[in-house]
Amino acid sequence: MKVTVIGSGFGGISSALRMKARGHEVTLVEKLDKIGGRAQQFKREKYIHDAGPTVITAPNLFYELFELFDENLEDYLNFVPLDPWYSFYFVNGFEFDYVPNKDKMLSQIEKINFSDVDGYLRMLKKAQEIFEIGYTKLADKPFHKFTTMARYTPEIIKLKGYQSVYKFVSSYLKDENLRQVFSIQPLLVGGNPFQTSSIYALIHALEQKWGIYFAMGGMAKVVDELHKLMIRKGVVIKTNHQVEEFETAGNQIKSIIFKDKSPIKSDIVISNADPVTVSTHFLKNRKVSLHNKILAKYGKQSMGLFVIFFGTRAKYKKIAHHTIWMGPRYRELLNDIFNKKILADDFSIYLHRPTATDQSFATNGGDSFYALVPVPNLQGDIDWDDTKDEYAKKIIKALGQTIMPDIENQIEDLFIMTPNDFKENYMTPHGTGFSIAPILSQSAWFRTHNKDDYYNNLFYVGAGTHPGAGVPGVINSAKVVDRIIHG
Ligand SMILES: Cc1cc2nc3c(=O)[nH]c(=O)nc-3n(C[C@H](O)[C@H](O)[C@H](O)COP(=O)(O)OP(=O)(O)OC[C@H]3O[C@@H](n4cnc5c(N)ncnc54)[C@H](O)[C@@H]3O)c2cc1C
Repeated sequence: MKVTVIGSGFGGISSALRMKARGHEVTLVEKLDKIGGRAQQFKREKYIHDAGPTVITAPNLFYELFELFDENLEDYLNFVPLDPWYSFYFVNGFEFDYVPNKDKMLSQIEKINFSDVDGYLRMLKKAQEIFEIGYTKLADKPFHKFTTMARYTPEIIKLKGYQSVYKFVSSYLKDENLRQVFSIQPLLVGGNPFQTSSIYALIHALEQKWGIYFAMGGMAKVVDELHKLMIRKGVVIKTNHQVEEFETAGNQIKSIIFKDKSPIKSDIVISNADPVTVSTHFLKNRKVSLHNKILAKYGKQSMGLFVIFFGTRAKYKKIAHHTIWMGPRYRELLNDIFNKKILADDFSIYLHRPTATDQSFATNGGDSFYALVPVPNLQGDIDWDDTKDEYAKKIIKALGQTIMPDIENQIEDLFIMTPNDFKENYMTPHGTGFSIAPILSQSAWFRTHNKDDYYNNLFYVGAGTHPGAGVPGVINSAKVVDRIIHG
């Protein structure tokens, strides 16, 4: 059969490979001039920056893509385990290293609050129980039938999936700083820890189970090797192909219409473009399932991201590969970002320093960085063109006053991505970082189904569909679609 995959994020690439492994004739079309979606890379004169994902969890999912063709990932890629996984710096003076060695972590917790050692161990055990249901049983299984949802609802209720991640963590830990350290995980997939279902506490168990890795050469090296794998196996890749519309006949997608390019007829269409974009742009709101209509209109969106890319002449050796810089407010700041949608004076930062592991990211011997700050998505009334330079200055100043002394004299080649760029580059509604938010009422059956409810040959992969955002989520979504199509 002829299969067309629209969009080349990890969800699209994984689908193209899975469909090829099933023997189909596969074409992957991408709007941009290179593949990878959010996992693209910016190559500057002296510095290289991964644009999006940096943290590899569940590395087995990448291995599986090579194993589909009896190949071994290790012949092409080098995944290096990181230690520490994340270093936390709080402006209130609190510091914590989230490390793979459990004893080292427990001894840090003991110094902070003795009773939280026992609390942490109980929390980890519960997170592992949640992982067994939320990840092992559900993450790569089809969820487009309500009967599946009904079957798992009692287990989700038993695990208290209705409470938030922050509430879950707080029921085990007393120290407020530790509560923040262990409840930020939903932000990695676009959710407010105070509103995201505690099912997402499974991320903590997932990190503990497989560890956290960095791919030498960065995520772009992973994309590059998957690109070569697709070419070796005969996937046709067409970049600079922006889908404009679907031609439909009854409940079938007949052909895919592009901007300035010939249409493609296809037996199966797999969309890695955002499901809302499919409804509003490709289908022009013609026949759209009620489910998708409701999500497009009332769906709660993930946050926007403000990302500053820069290099430094000097090396900041004390900064870990992944550093989380926590500002003075937590709950209130998240409320400003997710609910009030206003740009607050304060912020928190995720700092990526790939040169801690791979010096090829800075050819001058210095450091390559990106500083990522969660901000309101474009539903907020912020003029980013007007605001971005001053906002970036504030963030750089805060880093200079704390963990990166003399940054003002060391920094060079700075450039910025705002939610406007996310909207423009990836056709992401409201310029969000992660599509719709991972709240319980938008998860599993309640999220856009991987198989369209109306069009028989239309399927969805990527952050906006089940199981959701994050690299493991979107790669799993391709497995789900494979299972639906091939039984
Ligand atoms: C800054 C940042 C940091 C992140 N960090 C991490 C991390 O460390 N670890 C992690 O696991 N996750 C991380 N994530 C989340 C993760 O990157 C994403 O959830 C995931 O990569 C999204 O993959 P996707 O398959 O949904 O496709 P996307 O990467 O969103 O790609 C979709 C593709 O579809 C294309 N497209 C859209 N419309 C059209 C059209 N009309 N025609 C043709 N093509 C179209 C787009 O151009 C794009 O290439 C991060 C995200 C961001 C933004």
